[in-house]
Amino acid sequence: MTACVYLRYGSEVLVLDAGSGFARLLTEPELLEGVERLSVVLTHFHLDHTNGLVALPGLSRVPVREVWAPGLLVAGMPAAELVRRLLGPPFLAGTVDDVETKMATRIHELIGDVQIGSFSLRTRLQPHHVGPTVALRVDDELAYCTDTAYDEANVAFARGVRVLLHEAFHAADKTDHPAHSAAGEAARIARAAAVERLVLVHLNPLLEDEEELLRFATVVFPASEVGRDGPLT
Ligand SMILES: [Zn+2]
Ligand SMILES: [Zn+2]
Repeated sequence: MTACVYLRYGSEVLVLDAGSGFARLLTEPELLEGVERLSVVLTHFHLDHTNGLVALPGLSRVPVREVWAPGLLVAGMPAAELVRRLLGPPFLAGTVDDVETKMATRIHELIGDVQIGSFSLRTRLQPHHVGPTVALRVDDELAYCTDTAYDEANVAFARGVRVLLHEAFHAADKTDHPAHSAAGEAARIARAAAVERLVLVHLNPLLEDEEELLRFATVVFPASEVGRDGPLT
């Protein structure tokens, strides 16, 4: 499964990134039972974070289905234009108009901090990836820093949250890879930001032993765990 984080508060669901895990909203309909508003927030447009949007046409029973995307921030192009391109013909929808009717009810430009229903969302531009990406923070509950090389500025951004989801593509203490972080680096961000828990996400699918990641992370920050597909307990 690729990146997708599901948060629920009453009848509102906030999803961070729409990787392949987004299809769970189709295969496990109880995840959307009683949901009135589904808000999908994208960190950037790479396909491993957006391919799950193909499930949107199957979710039309949710009255409000919105996509928040940092088009201008990370791609210099309006979000609506990019999402229409991604989901419009010839890739998915029959017509461009279907994108904002049958798939999403609205496409919003994500340009800074924003209140989405009950969720207070803070954003930070991360410059160290293939192109820029956006780190997300939801209230004091969760920070999500993915698709970034080690970036010390994420310490202040994530400070004091309960759970930090940080990418750890490399099972190492450090890496000089320009676009992704190592487990030890994620752990240093967690320790400096004084979070309660670190969950390592966006793992290398070729990694044979996830314990390797933990070995590098827990020595720096003991409350580290590997993100699994399923609920965070
Ligand atoms: Zn990615
Ligand atoms: Zn990426």
